[in-house]
Amino acid sequence: MITNPTNGKFELLALPYAEDALAPVISVETIRFHHGKHLQAYVNNLNAALPGTPFENLSLEEVVVKSEGGVRNNAGQTLNHNLYFLQFSPKPAKTTPTGPLAAAIDRDFGSFEAFMTEFVQKGVSLFGSGWVWLAADDQGKLQITQEPNAGNPLQHGLHPLLTFDVWEHAYYLDYQNRRADQLKDLSKILDWTVIENRYQEVLK
Ligand code: MN
Repeated sequence: MITNPTNGKFELLALPYAEDALAPVISVETIRFHHGKHLQAYVNNLNAALPGTPFENLSLEEVVVKSEGGVRNNAGQTLNHNLYFLQFSPKPAKTTPTGPLAAAIDRDFGSFEAFMTEFVQKGVSLFGSGWVWLAADDQGKLQITQEPNAGNPLQHGLHPLLTFDVWEHAYYLDYQNRRADQLKDLSKILDWTVIENRYQEVLK
């Protein structure tokens, strides 16, 4: 999925579910702050910073790869949150992967259960604020990366498939300091059809 600006501006992601639909894992209060305030601020900051730079009118993904400083941070946070919010569903069509993605997870991590355990552990052990990612290289080989702050696997030539936000603003209202509990519970509302579709785009 490539995100292009409209008249030079990026827009706040429209959530594909009601703001109370992911409770109790992600409460309506967290959605209102995380999507309505934090993500909106990153989008606003990005739109304010882009005019007059060489990155104006590039796709969001290109800005994330090519820019630096404040533009890169706000573009990264915009893209990261878009990928994050779109991967959840109150009624996931698939609660585990199937097909080529399931086969790649078995090949590269041993099993789906082993992958989820490692993914949550790497989110828990990421020091400070950042994102844990499942990413694929151009050949479809999978790896887990830990990215500080606004980092995205695109910046290392990898394709982002799945992410957990470990900034405290993502979980503190609902789970306080219990980051591990929130990441385990997030696993239950992932819609693997979305993540499989991202992997299919890599394999094309
Ligand atoms: Mn966040």
